[in-house]
Amino acid sequence: MTQHPNLHLVEVRCSSCGAAFGIRSTAETISVDVCSNCHPAYTGQARTLTSGGRIERFNRRRALAAA
Ligand SMILES: [Zn+2]
Repeated sequence: MTQHPNLHLVEVRCSSCGAAFGIRSTAETISVDVCSNCHPAYTGQARTLTSGGRIERFNRRRALAAA
């Protein structure tokens, strides 16, 4: 009566902040780009990840126009 897959403790390592935590999974190793430790939604430091480029250029143009 064991129909569930073989779960074991896996160490998940975050490639952004280096945090490691264990979960139960069938995978051997897991690495993630963002984790709950460093994701903008949790840290509140949004925008630094996504705004490189367009918004920055817009702000620069706006500063020039105001001057
Ligand atoms: Zn992280």
